[in-house]
Amino acid sequence: MNDRETTLSCLKEAVHQLCLRKGWGEKGVQNPQQVAMAMTVEMSELLEHFQWMNPDDVRALMNGENPEKTALIAEEFADVMMYGMQLARTLGIDVAHEVERKIDIVDHRPVREDEPKR
Ligand SMILES: [Mg+2]
Repeated sequence: MNDRETTLSCLKEAVHQLCLRKGWGEKGVQNPQQVAMAMTVEMSELLEHFQWMNPDDVRALMNGENPEKTALIAEEFADVMMYGMQLARTLGIDVAHEVERKIDIVDHRPVREDEPKR
């Protein structure tokens, strides 16, 4: 699997098949409230890898100079995404449509005067 050749539907199904194999939830469907909570736990695990990094560490990471750290971050990112795919499948969320819709909302939202430059 890779991003270029894998659809979001395929990812949703792959995560669902994992849940079925593991016997998680009712017929592979876990409670979406619990999935959303688990997603935040995994997000915390992802953030933990950035804790106490200084700007040079972050720059090195962005330049691909710490592949071991990147692999650990990727694993936690996958955990977050897997719960996200599960949540989307359970609630019938079309991920591509919702991301496109949100981009449009943000694109057309007026810039606040106090908004920091990023
Ligand atoms: Mg994890």
